[in-house]
Amino acid sequence: MIIELRDINKTYYNGAPLHVLKGINLDIERGEMVSIMGASGSGKSTLLNILGVLDTYDTGTYKLDGQLIQHLSESQAAELRNRTIGFIFQSFNLISFKNAVENVALPLYYQGISRKKRNAMALEYLDRVGLKDWAEHMPNEMSGGQKQRVAIARALIAKPRIVLADEPTGALDSKTTVEVMELLREVNREGMTMIIVTHEQSVADATDRIIRLKDGLIDKIEKGNGHV
Ligand code: ADP
Ligand code: MG
Repeated sequence: MIIELRDINKTYYNGAPLHVLKGINLDIERGEMVSIMGASGSGKSTLLNILGVLDTYDTGTYKLDGQLIQHLSESQAAELRNRTIGFIFQSFNLISFKNAVENVALPLYYQGISRKKRNAMALEYLDRVGLKDWAEHMPNEMSGGQKQRVAIARALIAKPRIVLADEPTGALDSKTTVEVMELLREVNREGMTMIIVTHEQSVADATDRIIRLKDGLIDKIEKGNGHV
C-alpha cells in the first residue's frame, strides 16, 4: 500500500469546533487512480490536504509509502512533500510572471538543480504534455486546458511517488476536461498513483475507484470504469 489511513480524525478549532473527519479508514495501492467525491463541505479538501502533508490530523495514523506521517516539523513536511508528492489544483496555481518552462522547472529549483538542467528537463515534460511550442509563453497567454497541462508537467517533473489533484477539471469546459483526464490516465498507466477530488461524475467514472465521503466518513466505495 502506498497510502494507509486508520481512523483519521480532524477537527477545526477556529471558532466553534468543527469535527470534519470522523474516522477515515482507507488503503490505496501503488499505481491506483482513485477519486474522492462528496457534497461541498464533506471534507474532501481536508482529507487531500492531510494526504499531501499540507495539514495535520488529530488522531489515527497515516502511513505514506510505509512512513508514519506524524509530528513532522514544517521543514520536514516541506522536504517530504517536495520529494514525494505532486500537486494539481483547480486554479492551476502557476506563477504569473514566469513562462511555461520556468513554471514547470520550479520544483527542481528547490532541489538545487542547475538552471540549465532544470530548463532542459522542463522542456521534456512540456513536450510530454504536448506543449513544447509554448515553452516561452506566459500563463496569461494560455487557455485553461494549456495552463492545467503546464501544472501537470510541474507536478510530475520531480518524479513524485503520488499525485494529488483537487478539482483539476473544475475550471475547464467539458471537452478540455476529457483531454486533461486522458492525460492524467496516461500518466497513471505509466505507474503513477493518483488521487483526484472531483464533483464531476464523468471524472470519477474515469478512475479505478470512487470514494464517497459523507458527514466526515466514507459512505461507500464504488468501482469506476477505469477509462475516460
Ligand atoms: P470540501 O472540500 O468537501 O468542500 P472541506 O474539506 O474544504 O470540504 O471543508 C470541510 C468543512 O471544514 C467545511 O465546513 C469547511 O467550511 C470547514 N473548513 C475547511 N477548512 C477550514 C479551516 N482551515 N478552518 C476552519 N474550518 C475549515
Ligand atoms: Mg474542496
